[in-house]
Amino acid sequence: METQRMVVISNRLPIVLAQQSKGSWTIESGSGGLVTALSPVLRDQNGLWIGWPGTNAEDLPPRARLQELLSQGTRETGYALKPVNLTHEEIQNYYYGFSNEILWPLFHDLFSQCNFDPAYWKTYQDVNRKFAQAVVEHTTESDYIWVHDYHLILLGGELKKAGVERKTGYFLHVPFPPLDIFLKLPWRFEILDALLEYDLVGFQTVRDRRNFIGCVRSLLGYRVTGRGQINSIQTHDREVLVGAFPISIDYKEFASCAMKQEVAETAWIIHANLPGRQLILGVDRLDYTKGIPHRLLAFELALARYPEMRGKVTLVQVVVPSRRDVPEYEKLKQEIEQLVGEINGRFTQVGWTPIQYIFRSLSRNELVAYYRTCEIALITPLKDGMNLVAKEYCASKVENNGVLILSEFAGAASQLYQNVLLVNPYDRQGVARAIHQAFTMSQEERKERMTRLRRTIQRNNIYSWVKEFLRAWIYKDLSESNSEELFVPSPE
Ligand code: UDP
Repeated sequence: METQRMVVISNRLPIVLAQQSKGSWTIESGSGGLVTALSPVLRDQNGLWIGWPGTNAEDLPPRARLQELLSQGTRETGYALKPVNLTHEEIQNYYYGFSNEILWPLFHDLFSQCNFDPAYWKTYQDVNRKFAQAVVEHTTESDYIWVHDYHLILLGGELKKAGVERKTGYFLHVPFPPLDIFLKLPWRFEILDALLEYDLVGFQTVRDRRNFIGCVRSLLGYRVTGRGQINSIQTHDREVLVGAFPISIDYKEFASCAMKQEVAETAWIIHANLPGRQLILGVDRLDYTKGIPHRLLAFELALARYPEMRGKVTLVQVVVPSRRDVPEYEKLKQEIEQLVGEINGRFTQVGWTPIQYIFRSLSRNELVAYYRTCEIALITPLKDGMNLVAKEYCASKVENNGVLILSEFAGAASQLYQNVLLVNPYDRQGVARAIHQAFTMSQEERKERMTRLRRTIQRNNIYSWVKEFLRAWIYKDLSESNSEELFVPSPE
């Protein structure tokens, strides 16, 4: 009998190729929760990860050197890596185009940001077919094919078109929009049909799952049964399972990082440089879905409305550069910087500047030091699949002494809503009130809320996320004894 392997397919491979100087390449293993969680599963199962290596085909090192680098990556990660090479034009139309100018804004309810260019659709199909060919080439019928995110929705269907039978699961990391927004997509039927080619489709929240089912019922008229965690959709020829699986973080890793001497020292220095005040933290990738301008305006309103906060709070806003060559993002950066300048210009007093603005990527230790030391986190995306920063902040609050202000439109709110200050990011007055409420909250209440938040995240960590998905997909057709041997991620 052939052995069963877990095969993960995502847009990017879990490694980063970097060119040090002309012709000199290095490879680094990727970090991040998903890589951390899936790596033990892949290692235990002699698994495989298929994805784009992150560099245009035209600029890659020569074939033999690329192979060497990937073998080195395999030695470091403990599982095989297979690249799907994409040309500059493919990246432009499939990644920047269809994925990030159509699906990203549409799935985040920001329909007005969409650019429905038909050329993007063609390349999106071609590239998904290319990924499917890599799956055909490197996997067998007994393998489990786990496809990730909005870049590769068509992959499952492309496998079928190639006449290839595989066991397929799919997880969407971004939200799924409600019917009236999804309807705007010129390729709405193709996208919906493609999702129904997988055996299991996972969403971040019950709301996303409900939106998807609403679209399937209204546009395709299929029957949906089952309640609780898993629904079953009966298409004209098969059954598709649909579930909500909120992704999470490696809780222990953040908690133990926060307790490191080096991190505690950095945390102390951050606060010592901003004495006698509470620090409010915002950490976001540069993206219009994160609601950074809305947040800055709400902070400004809080300072105007509650003068007792002046001189007593500093907003530390970290913006991580992202998609810098897209004009939309450059415009957003300018808007943020102008607002920061205006607010600081309006309120700065001797010895106090209201906003400390950081535009770069932080090291893990630095980031966790900010998490540990900031009394309040202000996380107000207009819409977000999950928002891992919210969970990382809580996990790093090892003294249980922080307050989390969280947008009701972040996926994380579906699990954390009871113990955060829940806000509508569009409601400037409401966010300003929440900032003031956090500022004046007693230590006892902070502690109670944070203790409960941390317990929730500790219990629902990234390892339990993998387990839940695999349980719905794979374990159901295995006996208990087999299921223990297969794909059980560790460590807890
Ligand atoms: N992050 C990072 N460097 C930084 C700041 C943040 O690597 O300087 C990480 C952070 O730890 C988190 C991720 O970026 O894991 C952001 O994930 P989130 O779900 O909040 O938003 P996304 O960027 O995926 O939309």
